[in-house]
Amino acid sequence: MAEQTTMPVHVLAAIEEHQRQCSDPVAAFFYDLPALAAHGRAVKSALPENVELYYAIKANSEAAIIDTLAPVVDGFELSSGGEIERACNSATPRPWVLSGPGKLDSDMRHAMLQGVEAFHIESIGEITRLQTIAASLQRTQPVLLRINPTLPDELSSRLKMAGTASPFGIDEAQLAEAVTAVDSAPNLSLRGFHIHAMSHQKCEQRHQRLLSFYLQCWPRWRALASKHEQLTQLNVGGGIGVNYLQPAQQFDWPDLCRSLEQQLEAMHEPPLVRFEIGRFLSAFCGYYVVEVMDTKISHGEGFLVCRGGTHQFRLPAAQAHDHPVIHLPRSANQPNQAEYRPWTVVGQLCTPKDVLSRHQPLRGVAIGDLLVLPLAGAYGYNISHADFLCHPRPEQIFVGHVSESPTPEASHVQSEPVE
Ligand SMILES: *Cc1c(COP(=O)(O)O)cnc(C)c1O
Repeated sequence: MAEQTTMPVHVLAAIEEHQRQCSDPVAAFFYDLPALAAHGRAVKSALPENVELYYAIKANSEAAIIDTLAPVVDGFELSSGGEIERACNSATPRPWVLSGPGKLDSDMRHAMLQGVEAFHIESIGEITRLQTIAASLQRTQPVLLRINPTLPDELSSRLKMAGTASPFGIDEAQLAEAVTAVDSAPNLSLRGFHIHAMSHQKCEQRHQRLLSFYLQCWPRWRALASKHEQLTQLNVGGGIGVNYLQPAQQFDWPDLCRSLEQQLEAMHEPPLVRFEIGRFLSAFCGYYVVEVMDTKISHGEGFLVCRGGTHQFRLPAAQAHDHPVIHLPRSANQPNQAEYRPWTVVGQLCTPKDVLSRHQPLRGVAIGDLLVLPLAGAYGYNISHADFLCHPRPEQIFVGHVSESPTPEASHVQSEPVE
């Protein structure tokens, strides 16, 4: 397998420029904002009519990422007081919903005062707390109930959040009780249901079956409410996966959208469907760049010791995968005639777990070369234990501004032919 070498020219230029300015070896994130905007637009434009796209900002809540996606998406999905802060500071205000287990009373109150569109209720206990807060503010608050549905076996994925014991949502068996509780809460108004059942879904056919399962359940769930005509919204969550190991083969989003459109057209009273996507929106724009500081052979295995590590980019450790690596030789102009050999790419931490990728075939790697880990824009830096060993935090460089973007980079929405 030959190493991947393609990178957007403007990102390469920003990396080069950054390395020139650094006196120490480089460890930094680069985000391609024009590519992010183009990808977001492609995801959005593939959607059927009346289907909305929210961005789940926990995937990456950096201001520049939010500001780039805000004009593209219909709104944001938030899960904490801190995320409310970030979304409300966005240059382009958008509607937003608050979900997640363990909501603080203070956050729920703050959310109402800041104009939350709807709450996604995670438990029966939350209904009581939310009613009290809405009553104290003398408002009627729209809510969706998050359901933990009983899923057919074949619809499960690796990171299941539903169809099994989980802190998320309300078991289907308790749904009638929850609907009654909202119906009898004078300051709450039930608008529909929310399901975020899985993450890392890489197969569009399986996701189609999951969505059609939800749509089949919809009339039954809706009928539980006394004023069921008020229930119009079905939030189907996120969970669209990114293929980290075969970057050329990505989820066929347009295909999913086409089948959803057909299903909705066939329904008598279709719900207003909303996606709230994190990973599949922001992953592709990010690059984690580290500089090789040392090369060594230990017990026959080659190691590249790099600036940074899993305390800055925990994703490969969290996924237990070998992240793809792009090699940028310092002397890019000289022909690289060396033999390929496998290298294990590690960081600076004093733990054997600090591994970014194992056995990557690279050739002619030298100290001072850069290694680029692509697909680093979602659940990268922000899920990392950045204070471990007191290393400095990495710089985050946001390349290009949406307004001055004449050349959107290749979007990952179209599935590319397999090599
Ligand atoms: C994390 C999360 C999302 C986004 O999930 P992705 O896999 O990043 O698309 C959406 N909804 C809820 C409730 C979540 O917790």
